[in-house]
Amino acid sequence: MKITDIFQTQERTFSFEFFPPKTENGYEILLRTIEALRSYRPDFVSVTYGAMGTTQDKTIAITAKIQNEIGITAMSHLTCVGSTEANINEILASLEKSNIKNIMALRGDPPEGQKEFIYTQGGFKNGTDLIRCIKENGRFAIGGAGYPEGHVEAASLESDLAYLKMKMDMGADFIVTQLFLDNRHYYKYRDMALKKGVTLRIIPGVMPVTNYDQITKFSTMCGCAIPSDLEARLRDVRDNKEEVAKVGIEHATNQCMDLLRNGAPGLHFYTLNKSTATQEIFNAVLTGGYGQGHRPG
Ligand code: FAD
Repeated sequence: MKITDIFQTQERTFSFEFFPPKTENGYEILLRTIEALRSYRPDFVSVTYGAMGTTQDKTIAITAKIQNEIGITAMSHLTCVGSTEANINEILASLEKSNIKNIMALRGDPPEGQKEFIYTQGGFKNGTDLIRCIKENGRFAIGGAGYPEGHVEAASLESDLAYLKMKMDMGADFIVTQLFLDNRHYYKYRDMALKKGVTLRIIPGVMPVTNYDQITKFSTMCGCAIPSDLEARLRDVRDNKEEVAKVGIEHATNQCMDLLRNGAPGLHFYTLNKSTATQEIFNAVLTGGYGQGHRPG
């Protein structure tokens, strides 16, 4: 099913994101995670495309398995990295053959240690170009990425939002955001986007902090600010994994409840292929009266 068809009946969507594991053991863990989260009847799940375009085959294979064998609407991520336009068209054909109807279209990141994105000759320079190409194919629902604090390379939030509008104009059907730890960024972004004419659903991406070093690295790399009170609480317990997760889950739960109270069109969980934190947050969301159709039966 296309995610745009789900929007016809669901005011809010609840979705989970996974990444293709590198090892057999990682694959077993992913399958167990999907099994555990499946009982929440997600509206859809998505599978990332490895940095540097490294996991193309795995991404398609896992998305197809979820879509066709496990029976959950699935979305494959796709980036411009390492692909010419002809390669992208081949990938689209392969996705179509695998019965995958949803694509999250992204530019991709520069390789580690490099500041600038280097595009593949004959390929695409931006997410907007990839969205246009997929739209021309005509058979997919298309997601685009949004950055409530502005993309790290953007000259300003204003200019980044102009490109968000371009994503819509090129054919994006919805937006999923990068994670943010202070909802005020999301609300401001949503309002500014609407003023620019972006009328698409902007689904907030949520990730509970479960590792202090990981979040500080991500914060620097992707420009996601850590609120000072959260930073202090995490720093106090940084060497105690359980305590860090407790603080992170509590913060994410409060964020989710606040987002839903304030009209967010759903939640997209970055699960990191683990189920516990997402389950805890989802249970709190259900207890709070949201997502009743997703209560495990
Ligand atoms: P773009 O939209 O191209 O934006 C990149 C920069 O260029 C921005 O500063 C923007 O303002 C500017 N820009 C946009 N359009 C134009 C234009 N037409 N002309 C000039 N400038 C322009 N990465 C992966 O490798 N694999 C994944 O699976 C993956 N999944 C993600 C899922 C989500 C929900 C998000 C938010 C990010 C994901 N990423 C993934 C990371 C993403 O690839 C990076 O954030 C990347 O740096 C930007 O991708 P984009 O599609 O937003 O790029």
